[in-house]
Amino acid sequence: MKVIRFPNKKITFESFLCGMPARDYINQETAYEEQIKQAAKMIKDADYVLLGAGAGMSTAAGAQYGGKFFEDNFGEFQQKYGKNEYMRDMYFAGFYPFPNEESYWGYWSKQALLGGIDLDATPLHKLLLAAFTDKKVFLLSTNADKQFEKAGLSTNQIFCTQGDYFHIQCGKGCHDKTYDAVELFRKMDVARKDCMIPSEMVPKCLVCGGPMDMNLRKDQYFVQDDDWYAAEERFGEYLSEAIHKKLVLIELGVGFNTPTIIRFPFEKLVREHENISLIRLNLNQAIVPASFGDRAVGINADMAESIKDIVKEVSGS
Ligand SMILES: [Zn+2]
Repeated sequence: MKVIRFPNKKITFESFLCGMPARDYINQETAYEEQIKQAAKMIKDADYVLLGAGAGMSTAAGAQYGGKFFEDNFGEFQQKYGKNEYMRDMYFAGFYPFPNEESYWGYWSKQALLGGIDLDATPLHKLLLAAFTDKKVFLLSTNADKQFEKAGLSTNQIFCTQGDYFHIQCGKGCHDKTYDAVELFRKMDVARKDCMIPSEMVPKCLVCGGPMDMNLRKDQYFVQDDDWYAAEERFGEYLSEAIHKKLVLIELGVGFNTPTIIRFPFEKLVREHENISLIRLNLNQAIVPASFGDRAVGINADMAESIKDIVKEVSGS
């Protein structure tokens, strides 16, 4: 019989992305303990581990955005701007229509520090990474807090697609460069008065002279700089290799806000490749396609607990 071999086409991030949800989602009825064993076996059997992290991972690891945390840290902002639909957590407050750049940076310098720059590496991120010492690991993440990097994962193994809290860019994206703003944010944090920074600290674009903005994908002006494209390239190289090997995808707290970057593409990979399996961890959205059978395990539970249990099972203790 003649075997037709398709050339090993290189996978790009663009061809990886997928906008199609599955049509056969189910909540698996397998008992939790059994699911943990299945997940641990998938990891033990794999040589390649592709992690996909969403907001749920940071939350599970202890990152806080709203509630008492927001009241304690942004009370001054709530007093000034009112306790409205914006001023209730660090996600919505970022969309408040600040009246000027002094106020805009007065707020964002604080969010960048509290939401990412000043967060310590968490035990949960470290614990998870320690379980993969003998695997080829790569992380695809929509988080802006760089927590996996702080936990010890090499920059070369990370592709953060949506930007981060550490960089700023031209507000209109007039040139493809981002600027390290950590020191600037620290200065703003000290100088902030009445929720505003002094006018002389307002950053301006070195090219067009216009306002600067956070390097976060929140509108069409998001800048993808050289580092972004280099990470995209490495992701493509990793996946082009891993897709033919024993690969397990571990999805960490990815909901349905931006499912086209991690959730749906992961499903597509499993659908199209029998050698790939999926572990989906989520507090309550761990539904998986029924057609994946035992190549997918979806664990609806407190992720911090399920990660600890899986790692325990993998290490055999
Ligand atoms: Zn500009």
